[in-house]
Amino acid sequence: MVVIGLGRFGGSLALELVERGTEVLALDARPHLVQRFADSVTHAAVADTTDVEALRQLDVPDFDRAVVAIGDDLEASILTTSLLAEFAIPHIWAKAVSRQHGRILERVGATRVVLPEHDMGERVAHLVTGRMLDYIEFEDDYALVKTRTPAMAVNRPLGETRIRSRYGVTVVAIKRPGAGFTTATQDTVLEPGDILIAAGRARDVELFADLT
Ligand code: ADP
Repeated sequence: MVVIGLGRFGGSLALELVERGTEVLALDARPHLVQRFADSVTHAAVADTTDVEALRQLDVPDFDRAVVAIGDDLEASILTTSLLAEFAIPHIWAKAVSRQHGRILERVGATRVVLPEHDMGERVAHLVTGRMLDYIEFEDDYALVKTRTPAMAVNRPLGETRIRSRYGVTVVAIKRPGAGFTTATQDTVLEPGDILIAAGRARDVELFADLT
């Protein structure tokens, strides 16, 4: 895997990949950043990744996965992504700072665009206004929520709470204080203080999480 740009996003990504056993070639134009990561990643090199020769010398065309984690320098982000696409690297992930930037990255060949700040902003908006402990929204308006158990759901088997027919959500896992998550079944009986994970349409999941 090649990670280009060792700022906050690319740096954390490179370290996490190495931690999970992936070999990482980490590139950045700034020597002090490359130096900082040199001992933690498989290979690190100083390179201007808008320079096709520099990429060739580092054998970048041989990789089948790359992440372009250049943010603010749009020109460098777009040029780098298009060079990786010219090399026909099959999986090119690119970080965008705006939807517009993301659309351009897709057009020049990114196979997947991520908008970390935008997505995190949306997610935090959900968390700060309600009782949710965590929230993940997928495409087509489907979401998973981590929340405290509402009073209507305690002391009887989940199958009898009619949560699914009343709220349109499914409780998929529960967590007792001090224990790990376990999969929920029809017979699971929730107790006050349990944490649960529920899945459903974004709007339904939010309404369910707002119950006390
Ligand atoms: P973050 O918000 O994740 O910190 P930044 O946009 O600040 O992201 O960091 C992106 C990194 O990409 C910087 O360390 C910068 O040096 C690097 N970068 C920018 N342009 C190039 C380029 N042409 N070649 C290589 N690295 C680059």
